[in-house]
Amino acid sequence: MEIKHGPLIYEGKAKRVYSTSSQDKVLIEYKDDATAFNALKHSVLSGKGLLNCQISAHLFNFLHQNQVPTHFLSLQGETWMLAQRINVIPLEVVIRNVATGSLCKQTPIPEGEPINPPLLDIYYKDDDLGDPLLTDSRLKLLGLITSEQRLEIESLARKVNELMIGFFNKIDLTLIDFKLEMGFNNLGKILVADEISPDTCRLWDNRSNDSNERILDKDRFRKDLGGVIDGYGEILKRIQGGADKAANAVNLSEG
Ligand code: UDP
Repeated sequence: MEIKHGPLIYEGKAKRVYSTSSQDKVLIEYKDDATAFNALKHSVLSGKGLLNCQISAHLFNFLHQNQVPTHFLSLQGETWMLAQRINVIPLEVVIRNVATGSLCKQTPIPEGEPINPPLLDIYYKDDDLGDPLLTDSRLKLLGLITSEQRLEIESLARKVNELMIGFFNKIDLTLIDFKLEMGFNNLGKILVADEISPDTCRLWDNRSNDSNERILDKDRFRKDLGGVIDGYGEILKRIQGGADKAANAVNLSEG
């Protein structure tokens, strides 16, 4: 890592954020800790930090190439990335393309039902409160964002969804649902922040019909299916294979 980190600013469940010599940049370290159910369940899974860091970097780069503003600046080794310092908006934006997880616990919608158009849910990011789902009027009442900013956040999240559906489809993965966090940079611009990884996305393997085997994301940990690192590793392998293929296609057309 070329850049030295300064003091720790924040430690979360899966990452540490450090200051740098530049006021508007931070270094983010991805940890091997795995937590679920509001940290009631915890394990250390060797290699998870590396996999999530590398997968997130690929996805942030891909989004950047498609004009989605993100906090990501560069990879700094296996488990570190440099990012723009942001003021986190304490909201979690979840997009669902296929019903599973909390949606199926809280509604009669059956597991595996396609959702079209995709459902966008906004949660209040607060572990002590259990990240509650917000209604429209509660979101307004909280006054965290203006109605224009809300429109921008929702349209950014939907654009990320469309881009990522296509990205994962090409490598035989179905994007079931995912969570995004956003923040304001020092110019007040809204950026996609945090991470985009199998900790925050559900991804099913199109090459398997088995309802457990096809799960490659954090549900392997939540449901005690084992093979968490293998699942994450398979996602990174396919992403890297896809990137290699794209680079070869460019080389061929240039050569
Ligand atoms: N999610 C997340 N962090 C959270 C809650 C959810 O990254 O604190 C992700 C989760 O991995 C899934 C999506 O958001 O991809 C929807 O999760 P859901 O609401 O179904 O909650 P869960 O079943 O994980 O409790």
